[in-house]
Amino acid sequence: MKNCLVVDDSKVIRKVARHILETLDYQVAEAEDGQVALDHCQKTMPDVILLDWNMPVMSGMDFLRALRRSEGGDVPKVVFCTTENGRSHIEAALGAGADEYVMKPFDRETLESKLQLASYAG
Ligand SMILES: [Mg+2]
Repeated sequence: MKNCLVVDDSKVIRKVARHILETLDYQVAEAEDGQVALDHCQKTMPDVILLDWNMPVMSGMDFLRALRRSEGGDVPKVVFCTTENGRSHIEAALGAGADEYVMKPFDRETLESKLQLASYAG
């Protein structure tokens, strides 16, 4: 079973994502900001990370940069979540080491296909 860390400051989004991921046979953990996510990764590196952009304490971008610099931090596949008006973020996120991106709000089908694409990337 693959482990997925859902990083989002919205409890509702985390709940929706968890539900979808569990139906796709992922074991799910949650973090409400980038710092909590980084602490989690230092203890247990997930296989996949679903990452929000805007969060308090530490943003998705700052988390991603810190993750990719950390030991073993090149391993997880990172799917970046953004909104329609955040299209400019996508290029920056991919440049900082994200493997894929998904537009919010996402459904099961979209998330599943993005996770598949991410698992084939790099
Ligand atoms: Mg957010």
